[in-house]
Amino acid sequence: MPELPEVEVVRRGLERWVAHRTVADAEVLHPRAVRRHIAGGDDFAQRLKGHRIGVPSRRGKYLWLPLEDSGQAVLAHLGMSGQLLVQPHEAPAEKHLRIRVRFADALGTELRFVDQRTFGGLSLHDTGPDGLPDVIAHIARDPLDPLFDDEAFHQALRRKRTTVKRALLDQSLISGVGNIYADEALWRSRLHYERPTATLTRPRTAELLGHVRDVMNAALAVGGTSFDSLYVNVNGESGYFDRSLDAYGREGLPCRRCATPMRRRPWMNRSSYYCPKCQRPPRAVS
Ligand SMILES: [Zn+2]
Repeated sequence: MPELPEVEVVRRGLERWVAHRTVADAEVLHPRAVRRHIAGGDDFAQRLKGHRIGVPSRRGKYLWLPLEDSGQAVLAHLGMSGQLLVQPHEAPAEKHLRIRVRFADALGTELRFVDQRTFGGLSLHDTGPDGLPDVIAHIARDPLDPLFDDEAFHQALRRKRTTVKRALLDQSLISGVGNIYADEALWRSRLHYERPTATLTRPRTAELLGHVRDVMNAALAVGGTSFDSLYVNVNGESGYFDRSLDAYGREGLPCRRCATPMRRRPWMNRSSYYCPKCQRPPRAVS
């Protein structure tokens, strides 16, 4: 699954290559790609026609294209393998091309949604006064959002009977932090993933948020090298973030801080990677 930095790379690419262009027509080549649009593929295509696309927006891992003068937006679900590509008209169709959007201008490029496994898709939704599609109105701001409220996040952690990694992955508290970046930020913060959030002091929460932002910004800086390409791509396996990981995927390898072998533990159908020395498990709560 792509995480926030990968999605932000795609958003920036779309802002550069697709924003402010008017849709001439859209073509749905596979019904599964618009299955979240109940009225079907023809209706989806018809509703896009003639609308100008606004500046692509993102909250957490959710990405959408506002349709100007419609009160609606196209929400992209990238799933496991979804890609948004901006391609020249004459480029041959990709094997798994699902949706094609042509524009009413002479730039010579079109937007394509390509998805091998068809878990992803595009859907149309009404937007609220803040421009947010209604289906994601419950998603909290992400830590790179300038309006993210650090103090409110800290207070929520103090109130909640939960553990720190669960809280980081709770989209109603903070969005866009996936398993990989959670493990990275916890390692940097020397926090065990099962640490009860009620025990976090304000400085510890501040430190944790700082590390969350640092790991995301570092991934963005690396992924950012592809901004100039016409090829806008998202793929959870693209691997540009695994070059600099300190925790995730490093089972048995020496901790980069203290050389203790890193451990992996099953955690909510996933894995948690941590250093048993730097990230001490919490004492059992009686
Ligand atoms: Zn260590």
